[in-house]
Amino acid sequence: MSTLHPVSPEFAARARVDKAAYERDYAESVRDPEGFWRRIGQRLDWTRPYTKVKDVSFDVDDFRIRWYEDGQLNLAANCLDRHLAARGDKTAIVWEGDDPNESRRISYRELHAEVCKAANLLTNLGVKKGDRVAIYLPMIPEAAVAMLACARIGAVHTVVFGGFSPDSLAGRIADSQCKLVITADEGLRGGKKVALKINVDEALQRPGTNSVETVLVVKRTGGAVAMQAPRDRWWSALMDGQKAEHEPVAVGAEDPLFILYTSGSTGKPKGVLHSTGGYLVYASYTHECVFDLREDDVYWCTADVGWVTGHSYLLYGPLANGATTLMFEGVPNYPDSSRFWQVVDKHQVTLFYTAPTAIRALMREGEAPVKKASRASLRLLGSVGEPINPEAWEWYWRVVGDGRCPIVDTWWQTETGGILITPLPGAIDQKPGSATLPFFGVKPAIVDAAGAILDGATEGNLVITDSWPGQMRTVYGDHQRFIDTYFKTYPGMYFTGDGARRDADGYYWITGRVDDVINVSGHRLGTAEVESALVAHPKVAEAAVVGCPHDIKGQGIYAYVTLKAGETPSEELRKELVAWVRKEIGPIASPDFLQWASGLPKTRSGKIMRRILRKIAENAPDQLGDTSTLADPGVVQNLVDERLAR
Ligand code: ATP
Ligand code: MG
Repeated sequence: MSTLHPVSPEFAARARVDKAAYERDYAESVRDPEGFWRRIGQRLDWTRPYTKVKDVSFDVDDFRIRWYEDGQLNLAANCLDRHLAARGDKTAIVWEGDDPNESRRISYRELHAEVCKAANLLTNLGVKKGDRVAIYLPMIPEAAVAMLACARIGAVHTVVFGGFSPDSLAGRIADSQCKLVITADEGLRGGKKVALKINVDEALQRPGTNSVETVLVVKRTGGAVAMQAPRDRWWSALMDGQKAEHEPVAVGAEDPLFILYTSGSTGKPKGVLHSTGGYLVYASYTHECVFDLREDDVYWCTADVGWVTGHSYLLYGPLANGATTLMFEGVPNYPDSSRFWQVVDKHQVTLFYTAPTAIRALMREGEAPVKKASRASLRLLGSVGEPINPEAWEWYWRVVGDGRCPIVDTWWQTETGGILITPLPGAIDQKPGSATLPFFGVKPAIVDAAGAILDGATEGNLVITDSWPGQMRTVYGDHQRFIDTYFKTYPGMYFTGDGARRDADGYYWITGRVDDVINVSGHRLGTAEVESALVAHPKVAEAAVVGCPHDIKGQGIYAYVTLKAGETPSEELRKELVAWVRKEIGPIASPDFLQWASGLPKTRSGKIMRRILRKIAENAPDQLGDTSTLADPGVVQNLVDERLAR
């Protein structure tokens, strides 16, 4: 089903890591992790050098994860101060507004000055090392300034995506007991205003949120908001009086940097806590290798800062590497679905990193919007967030990249802090739909239900058998939940919750969430393969499959299918699609039920929420569980109303 896309010799010739280097360094990294990461850790500036590198035990009775434990550093100084001498005038952030006529370039020197002012401001408001600060901002430069300012004083930020409701915000503030909230009057996305300050006001009326002493409000749209004295203060009024110098606070490598809640695809979001030293080593090193970063690159990650991708690969990784990173306030289809590619041309973007959900949405609109822009500056494309269907991969490669740009399909999680399985673009041949091989120092394995490690070409549950520096350290406020969730299922290993297949070349294919595996007459089927077969049909834009009760087979396959723009559902097409899957994969995988879906339920980060689809298929729409991260609840109601009568 998949075609091999070998590394192009031209790309390999100039790549940071070629095939020989990957094989050599990977072997070293797993043979001698201590020596390997001792060397790699030196890419950062440490105010007190580490002597210890790795102290890890996944044994639940003697559990610890510590990296560079006795080292001290400051993350903001690593992202800003140390670049000033050589890169002071280099653009750190290219900001592209929601309105195509609005953009700004911020140099490393300017960003440093702003972050120093904000660090002084937070300090003057009584925020100290270890205090928690909630950041609920649109994609504006102040979001970066706020995050870096927290890091500069050793405060722990928790960024909450600006699309979340007052209840979701309140839950996160209450869980992490924030002292201060940084927000804006309103956000602007796709020409529409988002009532951020009003949401904060509502959130702070919810129980558990009275830890908040101050709300700082950035003026973005100038819309009217109620300021409640003495709690609410204008950001710019307070920033004006601050000094642009600030001595960064040295923190221990293991001191917390941020708390971030997972997407909530499988249940209630978890408060993932990341540390400072190991995290930054890992985020910066993966960013440099995976994106084959060069000094003159213009790098664009389309993720919101509210997701982990926005932390590691929009902000911290790129800035630690002295890169130019693009921050986009808007959405892919505003003013029209050519926007991404127009931004690429406007700012001469060379490296582009987005999610399968965006690629599938753009694919639905056809090639014309892409072809309107030149995209000649692009040299590498990336994907993250879900398995990318081979069909979408090929489209991304052929249409967006003009068959010229390697694609890095990066598998990782909020919990992992950085990319764990990915092609390195100059070293690893790509197979559409496969995240390919592990990054340096990463030891994946596939286990069966009993936890036995399976060798060779096989399929099962994906675990990681040893630690890497970017690994999360705890679930905030509930260390036992951390151990129970990730280390109890398979003793001595980190359990990812994802299923995977490994082929004869040792390539990993994420088959979907383990919770979503469908068991048809004793055969285990991952969701990804069946969905990709459906998406491979020329009329299908997107698909999601789940298991549903079936009298004879135990479980049947229930598929939800979204057609491409201009296609109409019919009984004939339904039969054609069922036959298509049967032909692509085999009779075992042919859907028993196929429901047309004008939209699929997704998290606000764009991931399909199959657990909700499963409940609909089971006819239990009253048991949907935590739906706080659902992007559009209306989609669910439509699917419930149109559920197939069986
Ligand atoms: P929750 O843990 O709350 O259910 P979530 O798992 O969606 O939410 P994230 O940490 O944002 O939260 O997502 C990580 C998951 O996304 C991975 O476990 C995997 O299922 C999926 N994923 C990410 N990147 C890829 C990829 N390149 N290929 C396949 N799956 C991916
Ligand atoms: Mg998860």
